[in-house]
Amino acid sequence: MNAADVPIWRDTPPWWRRLEALLFAAVFAYTTWGLAAGLTRYARETAGGKGFLADLLKPFDDGNYHDSVLAVVGLLIALLTLWELARFLIAQSGKERAAGPGAAARLFSATAREYQPTFFTGVLLGLLPRLIVIDVFWLLLPHFEHLALFDVGYTWYGWLYALLAWDLSMWLWHYSAHKVRLLWCLHSPHHAPENLNMTVAWVHFFAEGYYSALVQVPLLMLLGVESGMLVVLMAFEVTWGTFIHAGERSFRTGRFGPARFFIITPSYHRVHHAKNPLYMDSNFCSLLPFWDWMFGTLQPLRDEVKIEYGITRDINVTSFVDFYFGEFLLLARDLRGARGWRERFAYLFMPPGWAPGDPSHTATHVKRQFLLEHPELRPSSAPKLMSRWWLPAAVVLLALGFMWPAMAADRKPTEFGVCFHHGAFGNEHTPEAAAVLDDLRSAGRYWIRGDFQEPVKDAAFFADMQRKDIAVLALLPWYSKDVSGWPAYVRKQVQATPDVTAWEIANEPEMTWWGGPIPAADYLRMLREARAIVRDSNADARLIGPAVGATREGVAYLESLIGMGLLDSVDAVSVHYYVFHRSTQLEDVKRVVAGRKPIWITETGWNTADQEGGEQAQRAYIQSHYDRTRGILGADPAIEVIFHYELNDEHFPAPAGKDDGWGLTHGPDGGFGKKAAYHEFKKLLTNDPG
Ligand SMILES: [Zn+2]
Ligand SMILES: [Zn+2]
Repeated sequence: MNAADVPIWRDTPPWWRRLEALLFAAVFAYTTWGLAAGLTRYARETAGGKGFLADLLKPFDDGNYHDSVLAVVGLLIALLTLWELARFLIAQSGKERAAGPGAAARLFSATAREYQPTFFTGVLLGLLPRLIVIDVFWLLLPHFEHLALFDVGYTWYGWLYALLAWDLSMWLWHYSAHKVRLLWCLHSPHHAPENLNMTVAWVHFFAEGYYSALVQVPLLMLLGVESGMLVVLMAFEVTWGTFIHAGERSFRTGRFGPARFFIITPSYHRVHHAKNPLYMDSNFCSLLPFWDWMFGTLQPLRDEVKIEYGITRDINVTSFVDFYFGEFLLLARDLRGARGWRERFAYLFMPPGWAPGDPSHTATHVKRQFLLEHPELRPSSAPKLMSRWWLPAAVVLLALGFMWPAMAADRKPTEFGVCFHHGAFGNEHTPEAAAVLDDLRSAGRYWIRGDFQEPVKDAAFFADMQRKDIAVLALLPWYSKDVSGWPAYVRKQVQATPDVTAWEIANEPEMTWWGGPIPAADYLRMLREARAIVRDSNADARLIGPAVGATREGVAYLESLIGMGLLDSVDAVSVHYYVFHRSTQLEDVKRVVAGRKPIWITETGWNTADQEGGEQAQRAYIQSHYDRTRGILGADPAIEVIFHYELNDEHFPAPAGKDDGWGLTHGPDGGFGKKAAYHEFKKLLTNDPG
């Protein structure tokens, strides 16, 4: 580049440079201090047994696994970042001291050269737009979810598929970011640093997230990836994507031996950040080397070609303007000089380096020229061969995607129900409620779970349900450790409504909130007594129990019951599953039941009153958990029936204006107003494949 080409903003006035240097000193001190203070606090708390580890492990208990993974990886990344920084400062100060007087000033400018752009961007992104950018992804999701060509459930192959699809979407936006000049303007700050260290991962133009989300979200939704999986994949991507920016100070070659065949290593990503002709525009993925291999853009590090980091133009990395906006300013200059709209259009959308009638400065051209001169560095034939096969391979993958749902479909579809309070806990059995129940019934068949504790009311209620052709699960709760009155209670209830389809014995007997628990042996005796009474009057009635929480305590209780012979006395095992009440042991429930009986989730749901996200989160819960082909519970072959807790908010005589928030509809004062979740639930009934 000759002097005439040097843009005026490249060298800013001295007062401005001093201001930036001052700012950098402050930001450097602040960020380093923040990282170090966080680490020290963690270390101190752990040493003092103050539960840092417990906090770290808690999300594993809650089922928020990605929080825990993020906490662990976040810690590791902070450690590595500081480690790199310390090694840089030690090595550089040694070098500068040896070079004679003025070492402090030289050390400062070397540090600025290495860290100023990344620290500035880190702070800039941390302050405001990062939040916006992350939100864009989630804001776009609902608008594209219906595009899914097919559904891939939460299975192991579903996860593998999602990982591949994620990386494909990553390859696509990243490749375009390098090949379309306008998008390169957004992406170039990430490539501007002249050295690689983990803080380079912070550097992204704030608007880049909008563009990448616009490419990724529609594609991933079209490919049928579960939106719930994206949370985990994104967390993985962010942490691993940061890690692969580790510089030579952390890992000398960063090749990681045979791991390089399965995952993108720091070595691959260093190549991506290189401006050498051989390395330009390669290794676009950050998780798997698969798609780069398929598309022929995978370029391993060659020992004979030493990496030069950065971008090909002459850039002043310690000028924030040049670093962050330089490419935009150059594009504006080209657009001003363009002759006509065709040329302007081409400047915007042709690859960087393109000029009218002269493609010789594009990366493709430069690389081809280089390989002509260095034939020994040509890639081996494997990637080229694969690049010829990627289309058939993609077709096979798509075909597999269509087959999975079919494979998952050969099982009995999940049934649905709602919990309804018609008696003891405030009577919801009103004309308004009847209209709502009729409306649901018009969509499809479902169950009602009601607590049977007042024979007269129960009989009227059950008769109405029979008229509506709604199956009833009659819950027989018992909130006392004194179980002597139990057989009489059961007999009275069964006499009032002998034709009930299924009886649930009892409600959360292992819990303490009501003064329990009932000892397991006592519970089992209650179950056997109830079973004898029920079967006496209706040989077809089903017995369900023990309605324990899917928690550690609930599973332990269930396990001891099963040890005593529970499974001989029930037709299905019932559990309550609440994601934010530590109900994360569904896998354990399945393990102890071991497929010997179907599992009924007789209570699950999402509270709009005290959980974030309000009605939309409640609706999303139904989508992510109940859906028959891809829901966490609904697609699980072990689960036979799912009961939503509950039909209506506020069944207790609650304080005025207070709302318990579990319902598909608003409380009685609102006249059973339908929430977003109601419509989603109704859709499930409509889509009954049975
Ligand atoms: Zn890039
Ligand atoms: Zn990078």
